[in-house]
This record gives sequence, structure tokens and C-alpha cells, in this order.
Amino acid sequence: INLGLTAEASVKKVTDEIVNRMQKIADPYIKEKAHDFNDLSNRLILCLQNKTTTKQQKKLPKNAILIAPALGPAELLDYDTSKIKGIILEEGSQTLHVVIVARSLNIPVLGGIKDIFKNFSPDDEIALDANEGVVYINPSDEVSDSFYAHIKEQGRRLAQYTLFKTLPAITKDGIPITLSANVGLPADFIAMETIPFTGVGLYRTELPFMTAEQLPDTQTQTEIYRRALLSAGGKPFVFRTLDIGSDKILPYFENKGEQNPALGWRSIRITLDRRALLRSQLRAFIRAVNGQELRIMFPMIADVDEFIDAKNTLEIELEREKAKGNPLPSKILVGTMLEVPSLIFQLPVLLPLVDFISIGTNDLCQFLFAIDRSNPVVWGRYDPLSPPLLKALKNIHTQCKEANVPCSICGEMAADPLNAMTLIGLGFTALSISPQSFGAVKAVIRTMNQGQTADYIQTQLETLNHSLREKMRCYALDHKVFI
Ligand code: PEP
Ligand code: MG
Repeated sequence: INLGLTAEASVKKVTDEIVNRMQKIADPYIKEKAHDFNDLSNRLILCLQNKTTTKQQKKLPKNAILIAPALGPAELLDYDTSKIKGIILEEGSQTLHVVIVARSLNIPVLGGIKDIFKNFSPDDEIALDANEGVVYINPSDEVSDSFYAHIKEQGRRLAQYTLFKTLPAITKDGIPITLSANVGLPADFIAMETIPFTGVGLYRTELPFMTAEQLPDTQTQTEIYRRALLSAGGKPFVFRTLDIGSDKILPYFENKGEQNPALGWRSIRITLDRRALLRSQLRAFIRAVNGQELRIMFPMIADVDEFIDAKNTLEIELEREKAKGNPLPSKILVGTMLEVPSLIFQLPVLLPLVDFISIGTNDLCQFLFAIDRSNPVVWGRYDPLSPPLLKALKNIHTQCKEANVPCSICGEMAADPLNAMTLIGLGFTALSISPQSFGAVKAVIRTMNQGQTADYIQTQLETLNHSLREKMRCYALDHKVFI
């Protein structure tokens, strides 16, 4: 602490030194004791952070609906999620990270419910329809019956999606769409086993960091990434560097308790400031691909200089690995996420430097509309299917096309059937979505005509419309697009 470390970091440093020394001792008994030291240190760190709850303590009954004012993705993963049938939160938005994680686990989430402690008691029976945004407390028999009928109907729809899941992603007028997967949790890799996917368009590396008890070292990360690559079976695989901060808090990593964390110290800002973290991760990526192709992208880039800085760090790591005689990737593609609007206006200078662009619409919407994606008071106020966002996306698409730089969408927006139809109508031919949404999005792709949709959207972009959702829905129904 006197050297300037936090209490948690001091405990970690001292533990590492002791464990290192113990592991050098030949006696297996002493070596074994190193685990006890690590365990002790983890508990101490949890106490220092006032977080004494462990996985074991978060026991749940079967078929539980989890109700909380707010929930981080790491906190959700602390529970036995197989027992959770649904989640109700006071905070809300479909792009909140806990919702993204829950979707991976097929758990519906309803956000934006006020006064939950007043409204719910632990023994209430609850009927939750997160799609329609309704929840019944102790429902009547009629309501229960209609819920069961609805669940049956949904089962039929899912069965239809399953039929589409394995068919090629090609529109009625013959435009092939590259459908890649957004992954991070083991559940995503399991879901991927049943679908033909072109590759992994977004690997959220922070998710394995969230389920870890402590910051994974380079060796541990290398193994995690190697396993992830293996699950993708050699298909193109985009690693995104650590995107922590805001609502993605690591329990063991410094949290500054900012007033506006979504606009604060997060993502690339953290990893450029804590360079060792970035370097360790880049080193682990290089080692994990073990001489094969490496694709990396950086999140939350707001300024071209940040991209250059991050890319130079990758160069340093490549040099280091070369000097050590370790295998270098056969090919390296370095791209950036576009999720901060300032980058749109820097595309002319950015595009010559990048191999690809991936648009993160979750954050882009948040920043474009100045709307906190975790704030229930405002989150439903604007629609991504509205002229301002669609025009911004079209602008990015046009600039990338002219510069011949591949551009895809990896935000949650693309996983919604109506949105996916609109994005393809705007000209996007590469979408990266959660594996759980493949069936629904393929059903749209295979029943839509790209050219006709493009013509229709063009007539709508300059109109005075708060949202184009109803118009796009009518268009889809009129043209028999499966939404
Ligand atoms: C996004 O912002 O759209 C995105 C894909 O990143 P994340 O949801 O992890 O912030
Ligand atoms: Mg983002």
C-alpha cells in the first residue's frame, strides 16, 4: 500500500510472490499449499471489496424468477442460471449487458419495472412475457391458460425457425448474407454446434474475465482463447479486446464509481491506461492462434489516435513473440468497432489504416441519441429503426464501400428480424448476431427481396418519422417477409 497500490492489488501482489516461491519448491506438499494461498487471497480481496457472497450462497429454488433493482452480467453468472426462468429488473434496455448474457442463456429479461420491492413478494407466482413487456403477479386461471397457449404457439414458431436455421443465408433476389456469431459464454459455443455460421464476428473476451475469480494471467487467457477457437472449428474468428467498465464491472478490478460510467473510464480507455492488461491479452491472442490467422478489433475507439496506439501495442507484442521464437500468425487483420459517433467523421483518415469495421449499434445508439442504455426512465424513448440512426448507418456503409473496407454490424439490433430486414435493405451484407437468433434472422433473409426493400427504405429516410417500425412491419407483412 505504501508503494501506491490499492489494498486489493497489494494482496494480489504479495500472494503472487508467495505462490511463485512455493511453486519453485520441489516438495509436492508445499506446492499443493499454493492453492490454499490463492483461495485465501481471493477471499481477502472479496472482503476488502465488501463482497462476501459466494456462488454457494446464491442458492435458488427451481423455476425461479429473479427480481432485482439492477444486475450486472458478472452477478448473474454467480447464480445457478439453469434454475432461472426469467429476470425482472428496475433498470432496463434490450442492450444492457446483463440482457445480452441472459439471452445467451435463453433467459427472458423484463426491465424498467418500478418499485419492485413494493410490488413483489418472495412467494408470489409470476407469469412473465418479456417479449410483450407484461408481468402478472399471482395470475388468474384465465391468464395462466392464455400464457400456456402462448408458450405452445411460441414453440411452434421456434420449430419453424429451426427449419430455416440450417438453410443458406441468401435473399430471394440472390444476395448472400454473411451471418456470423456473437459469442462469449460456453452456452454460445454450445448453441453454435447446431447452426452453420460463417465465423465469429464478435468474441466478447470480457465474459470469461467476468466468470473468473481473479484477473486471468496470459497463460490462462491463452487456454481460454484456444478453446474458443477450437469451438469455431477454424472459421474466421474476431477477438475483441477487453471491453470492461460501465455495466461490465469485474469484481476484482478497480472501479472508480463514476457518475456517468457509460461515458467514463471504460473499454479501450482502460486498456490503453493499464497497458500491461492490453499487452497480456494481445500476447494471449497471438499464442492462442498458434501460427494461424489472427483477427482483432478494438472497442470504443473515439479517436483515430487510440486505434493507432492500440495497433502499435500489437506490433510490440508481435516483435516480442518473434524475438522469443514463438510462431507468428500467418495473417493478421486488425479492425475497430465503430460505436462512438465521433469516429464517423474520422472515417476518411481511419479507413486506410483498418482491415475492417464492425458497427456496435448498442453503444452507437446510446451515444447518438444521448440515451443511457441502462436507464429505464429514458431507454424506450428512441427507436433504432428511425431516420437518424439509419442515416448514420448508411453513411458509414457508403464510406466503407467506397474505401473497399469490409463493414459489418455486431450490435443486438441486427438480431431482431425487422431490424435485420431493414439493415439488409440499407445495404449491409454482413451481420454478427447471437447464435440463439440465427433461426429468426435467417427466416427474414430467405423471404425478403433486398432490392425492393432498399427502394422502399430510400423513400422513408428523409421523412418526419419518430420511428419507422410500424412502416417496416407493414412492408414486411405486405411482402410476406417472415417476421
Ligand atoms: C455494441 O456496443 O453494439 C457492442 C456490440 O458491444 P457491447 O454490447 O458489448 O457493448
Ligand atoms: Mg459496445
